[in-house]
Amino acid sequence: MEPIDEEAFEKLKLAGRILREVREEIRSIIHEKMPVIEICERAEQLIIEKGAKPAFPCNISINEVAAHYTSPPGDTLTIPEGALVKVDLGAHIDGYVVDTAITVCFNPQYVELVRTAEKALQAAIETIRPGLPTSVLGSVIEQNIKSRGFKPISNLTGHQVGRYVVHAGTSLPNIYYPSIAKLKLGGAYAIEPFVTLPEAAGKVEDGSEVTIFRLLKPKKVGSLEARKLLGYIEENFKTLPFALRWIKNVVPKDHFNKAFHELLKAKAVMGYPVFIEVSKQPVAQAEHTVLVVEDGCVILT
Ligand code: MN
Ligand code: MN
Repeated sequence: MEPIDEEAFEKLKLAGRILREVREEIRSIIHEKMPVIEICERAEQLIIEKGAKPAFPCNISINEVAAHYTSPPGDTLTIPEGALVKVDLGAHIDGYVVDTAITVCFNPQYVELVRTAEKALQAAIETIRPGLPTSVLGSVIEQNIKSRGFKPISNLTGHQVGRYVVHAGTSLPNIYYPSIAKLKLGGAYAIEPFVTLPEAAGKVEDGSEVTIFRLLKPKKVGSLEARKLLGYIEENFKTLPFALRWIKNVVPKDHFNKAFHELLKAKAVMGYPVFIEVSKQPVAQAEHTVLVVEDGCVILT
C-alpha cells in the first residue's frame, strides 16, 4: 500500500466527515422494535445525500452476531428489546474508504461491555505512531479489555484500508499476535476492538446467513441476466461489498435468483457469512478509521 498523497487525504477527510455525521444521525434515531431495513436504507441514503457512496452495506449486527448482517430485500427483522446493536458503516469518495462502528446498548447490563470497546479503541488510537509494531497495538487492545474484566474477540481484526478495498494489506489483531508488520506513515487503518463477556469463547464462527457479497472476478457467465447483473456490479461497486437490496431491480424479478446464483456458482461473486460469537454471548464493537501522521494519527471518522 502506497502512502496517500494530498488529494487522497482530502477525499478521505471528506468521506470521514460525512460518515461521522451519518453515524451520529443513526445513533440518534435508532430504537427498539425499529425495522432493521429502515436503519440500513436510511444510513446508506444519508451517505449518498451528503456526497459520498457507501463503501459496503450498512451492517446491523445484534447481540451474539458480531458482524456482517445487512437487511436482505424485504427484511422483517426488527431491533429486539434489550438488544446490543452494532452499527457498522463505510463510505468512500473516489474509492478512498473510511469505516466506523458504534454499539448502541438497550440493555443496562451491557453498558460496561460497550464502554470497554470504546476505551480500548481510544487506548489504541493514543498509541498509534509511524512504525508501531502491529503486535504492540494488539497487545494494548487486549490488555485494555482484560484489565476491565472483559475478553477480546481473538479472530476479528482491524485492517488497513485501500483504494476500493476495505480490508487491504495489514491486519490489526485485537490481541497480542507475533508479527513483523508495522504501521506506516501515511497509511489509513481501521481500528476495531470487538469485546465480549469474560466467560465467552471469545471467538466468532461463520453463521448460515449470507447477506453481503462482493465481486471476485469478472467471469464469462451464460445467461443474459447473469451477464447484466455482473456488469452492473462491476461498474457500480468494483471490488467493494454490496447488498442484494442494491441490485434487486437490475434484472426482471422472476430471473433475479437464478441469475445471482449463476454468479455465485461461477465464483464471479462471493458471499460473507455473518459472524457469530461461538458461545452465543453478546459482542460490542467500536471502530474508527485513522490516518498515521508524523506525531501520531488523525481520526478520520
Ligand atoms: Mn467496520
Ligand atoms: Mn472495519
